[in-house]
Amino acid sequence: MNTDYKNMQAPHLIIIGGGFAGIELVKQLKNKPVKVTLLDKNNYHTFQPLLYQVASGGLGPDAIAYPLRKIISKLSNIAFRMAEVLTVDTNKKCVSTNIGEFNFDYLCIATGSQTNFFGNAELEKYSMQLKSITDALDLRSDILQEFEKALSESDTSNITRILNFVVVGGGPTGVETAGALAEMKKNVLPADYTELDASKMNVYLIESASRLLASMSEASSTGAAKFLNELGVQIKLNIAVVSYNGNTITLNNGETIETDTVIWSAGVKGKSIDGISIDALGKGNRYKVNAHNQIEGYKNIFAIGDIALMNGDEKYPNGHPMVAPVAVQQAQLFAKNLTHLISNKPLQSFHYFDKGSMATVGRHKAVFESFGIKMQGYIAWLGWMFLHLMLLVGYRNRLIVFINWMWNYISYQRAIRIITRPFVRK
Ligand SMILES: Cc1cc2nc3c(=O)[nH]c(=O)nc-3n(C[C@H](O)[C@H](O)[C@H](O)COP(=O)(O)OP(=O)(O)OC[C@H]3O[C@@H](n4cnc5c(N)ncnc54)[C@H](O)[C@@H]3O)c2cc1C
Repeated sequence: MNTDYKNMQAPHLIIIGGGFAGIELVKQLKNKPVKVTLLDKNNYHTFQPLLYQVASGGLGPDAIAYPLRKIISKLSNIAFRMAEVLTVDTNKKCVSTNIGEFNFDYLCIATGSQTNFFGNAELEKYSMQLKSITDALDLRSDILQEFEKALSESDTSNITRILNFVVVGGGPTGVETAGALAEMKKNVLPADYTELDASKMNVYLIESASRLLASMSEASSTGAAKFLNELGVQIKLNIAVVSYNGNTITLNNGETIETDTVIWSAGVKGKSIDGISIDALGKGNRYKVNAHNQIEGYKNIFAIGDIALMNGDEKYPNGHPMVAPVAVQQAQLFAKNLTHLISNKPLQSFHYFDKGSMATVGRHKAVFESFGIKMQGYIAWLGWMFLHLMLLVGYRNRLIVFINWMWNYISYQRAIRIITRPFVRK
């Protein structure tokens, strides 16, 4: 029994969100003079960078999820409650959740982000997204159901629509998802659906900017586009989506594509919490924070990770990129600053240390850049694999992912091609 937490007389910190930022923060606060309650609507942490592999049947959901209770089980000053936070009362210093209320001395919001459909209700209704394990399982079912549907269809225009897959957004998620779909066309369709003509499957990648992977160098963008072209992905640059009605996607050059499946990976926005002043919200629905992650207008309320929009870092005038290393580094500094705050010591300012970025394309290609070194192709893919294995939480998950990747590599197959929970279209 965790008596330390129960009996602890220390300032109480509530953390909302057990994502990259939240779990790093609890680890850093181990044995510190602060009582911590971690709240998350799920009882697991999701390793979002590999969601696309769950969606394409390469990994099972348990390989990229990790129980939050396991993370805190040896941290005696920390407790976890599976609770969805509904509102915050900043005057009463209390959060309301679906399981009751929690009082706090300090609050840290680490709720991450959600898909941004930029107010287009139709796109939101009909597109698939990739932000959670549920989304990834829906997409996996949808892709496999489309293959099944194509088999019993005789009308060629219907087959075209069913086997057209459109990915919107040429960032890392879009590039990786399009590559995985193209691999399914190349390896899964010919093996599992021998009665289908695999050449009828089309994968489109639509990007409104002039290049893919805009956050990386021109060389990486060109490399990723080349690898995708080799896999047969049809890339459309400088083109935006106007509408999608569930059957037809219309582009701003007047072109239309008939498709049952649009995967929207063209943007995210912060996942804010009711009760925090809307004046504190900045661009992208993220909370404006100072260099100590303190939310504008509040002394005891902080935001870290994707939800935080930090102004003042010269290199990042529009806030830091919404990536895992920013979340982890902000959590590390906030843990330090919180103990300083409690003991009236001066706080340190946050500076992001960018170690580089990467994206994988298909089965064994990637683009990778770090500290001025740029790599592409097979070696970059080995680097990508190694780093993702190291970043996964838990030895079991690393082992499962490693075994699955080796199996996929040797067999050319996506291991988990099963429809366990059929996806029902809206
Ligand atoms: C498909 C995909 C691929 C990505 N690939 C990469 C990559 O390759 N490299 C990289 O660095 N970054 C990548 N990212 C971005 C990275 O995952 C995020 O930057 C990172 O997860 C941010 O961490 P966070 O802790 O701020 O939020 P999250 O990790 O999103 O965690 C937020 C947590 O808050 C919980 N939560 C939200 N609202 C509530 C509420 N009201 N009540 C209770 N709990 C709540 C959620 O359940 C979740 O556990 C990717 C993201 C996606 C979606």
